[in-house]
Amino acid sequence: MSNTQNSTRDMQIFQQLDIDVLMDRHDLSEESRNTIMSENLLPPSMLSRMHNSFPQHSILKPRYEALFTHGKNKYSTIVGFREVCSILRENGIELTEMKERELFVEVYAFLATKHILNTINWNNYLEDPVFQLVFPQPDMIAKEVVDEYKSIEDDGERMKMVVAYRDKTNPHDGKQILNRPSFYDEEGGLEAVDGGQHKYPQVFLLFDKTTQGCFAYCTYCFRHAQVRGDEDMFIQDDVAQVHSYLRLHKEVTDILITGGDAGYMPASRLAAYLEPIMHDPELMHIRNIRIASRALTYEPDVVLQRKYDDALELFGRLIDHGVQVLWMGHFSTPKEMLNIHTIAAIRRLRKHGINVRSQSPMMNHVSLFMDDNGKVDIDRSAQNWIDLAHMLMMLGMQFHSIYCARPTGEHGYFTAPLADMDKIFSKIYHSLPSVARPSRYITMTSSAGKVSLLGTVTVNGDKAFALKFNEARNMKWMDKAFLAKYDEEENTIEKLIPYGTEKYFFEDELAQIEDDLQEKFDKSELNKDQVLQVLKVE
Ligand code: SF4
Repeated sequence: MSNTQNSTRDMQIFQQLDIDVLMDRHDLSEESRNTIMSENLLPPSMLSRMHNSFPQHSILKPRYEALFTHGKNKYSTIVGFREVCSILRENGIELTEMKERELFVEVYAFLATKHILNTINWNNYLEDPVFQLVFPQPDMIAKEVVDEYKSIEDDGERMKMVVAYRDKTNPHDGKQILNRPSFYDEEGGLEAVDGGQHKYPQVFLLFDKTTQGCFAYCTYCFRHAQVRGDEDMFIQDDVAQVHSYLRLHKEVTDILITGGDAGYMPASRLAAYLEPIMHDPELMHIRNIRIASRALTYEPDVVLQRKYDDALELFGRLIDHGVQVLWMGHFSTPKEMLNIHTIAAIRRLRKHGINVRSQSPMMNHVSLFMDDNGKVDIDRSAQNWIDLAHMLMMLGMQFHSIYCARPTGEHGYFTAPLADMDKIFSKIYHSLPSVARPSRYITMTSSAGKVSLLGTVTVNGDKAFALKFNEARNMKWMDKAFLAKYDEEENTIEKLIPYGTEKYFFEDELAQIEDDLQEKFDKSELNKDQVLQVLKVE
C-alpha cells in the first residue's frame, strides 16, 4: 500500500452529505444521480477507504476548484483547444508555446471532456499526468518540424506541411494492414472484411463504423490514423459479413470490439452483432465479447445514463448464454480512478456481471517519470503502478497488462529504455500480492506478435534480455524463450539485436507469412476494384 496513506488522526470519514456535495461539484445529471442512488454505486464507507488509502491521488475531498463545471461537455479540434485555453486564461492560467501545441493538434487531434479536464489539478498542472495525457506539450514534436511549421505563413501551405508530416509518424505500425481478413463467399468471390483484424487465431478485432470516435484524445494514441479518419483506416459497415466470416473461423473465441472507442456503439448496433452469437448454432464457438473503451476515464457518465440500460440488459443475456462480457478499460494513473464518476461507473458494470479489466501503456510523463537528472525514476514510476494496481483490486477489477509504447506517433517523447522499464516492472511485480499483479510481463507489439520482456540473464558472462512471445503470428513461437543482447538505451524490442545468433528463430517464417498475407491482401483489393468497376458500369 502507498506509504502516503492518511494516519488515523487525519482520516476523512465520508457521509452521504459529502457524496451529495461531490455530485453537485461535478454537475451530475439527475439521471446519473438516480442511477447512483438506486444501485448503491457510491457507498460512503468504500469512498472513505479509497480516499484514506490514497489521499495523494484522490479528488474525493477536493483540494482545488473544478474549472469546467458548467458549459460544454466536450471541446474538440483546434477550436475547442483554443476555447479551453481561454477558460484557463480567465482563471489566471496562461499556457505558453501555443504554436507548438497547435501544431500537435493539427497533426493529431484535440478532444477533451469536461470530466477529464476537471480531474486535472490546475493549481499544479505542470506536474499532473492527466495534463500530459490530454494536452499537447511543446516538446512532443521535434524542434525542426516545429520551426518549419512556424516559418510558413500561408495557411494552405502550412496545412500541406502538416499532412506530409503525418505520413512520417508511422501511422500503421506493426504492418496492421496485413491483419485485415478476407474470405471466399458463397458465390466464390473473395471478400475483404474492411473493419476487421485477425492476427491471432482466437481473437477477431472489430472496428465498427459507430466506434470510430473517442471520448477524448490521448496524446500518445497508437491509433491516430484510425481516430483521425485517414483513408486507409479499418471500418466495418456490414454486420452480416462479420457473422459470415466468423462462421468459417471456428478457432475464434473472442470478438474484441474496438476503434476509436467501443463505448460509442449504440445498444441497437451491439444487438445486431451479438444477438446471433446467442442464437446461431454456427456461432457457438464465440465465448467472450471484449469492449475496448476509455469511457471510464474520459466519460464515465455514459455508463450511468439510463440509455445504457439496454446495453446492460443485452450483456446480461449474453452472460446467461455462457458468453462472458469483458470491459477492457485503460487506466495508466491512479488519478484517472479516484473520482465519483469513474468509481460509480465501474461498480455499475460489475453489478451487471461484466468483467472489468485494465490494460495500459507505460509512458514517459504519464505513467513513467524522470528524476531531476533526466534519468528514469524507477521508484516513483513503479509506485504509480503499485497504487493503481491496489485501486483496481479495491474495485474488483483485473489488472490485465502493461505494455510499452509502440513506435508510432511521437514515440520519442513517451518512450524510455527497455532496461529501465524492466526494472520498474520488476519492482511493481514483487511489490504486489499475486492476485493484484498484471496477468503477464510487460509486452511490446510488433508485426511478429506481442513479446514479453521476462528480465535479464547472464550467459557466458554477457548480460542479455530474456524474451518470450505471448501472442504470435504463429502461436507455436510462444513455446520458446529467446535472447537479445542487453542494451541500456534501446526502447523498441523489435530493434534489439539477437544474442548468440545471426537472426531470431522466427524471422524467416515471419517474412514468408508476411509475403503470403500481402499477396492475399493485394488480391482482395484487386477484387474490390473489380466489383466497383462493375457497379460503375451498371
Ligand atoms: S482511447 Fe485509444 S484510440 Fe482513442 S485516442 Fe486514446 S489511445 Fe487513441
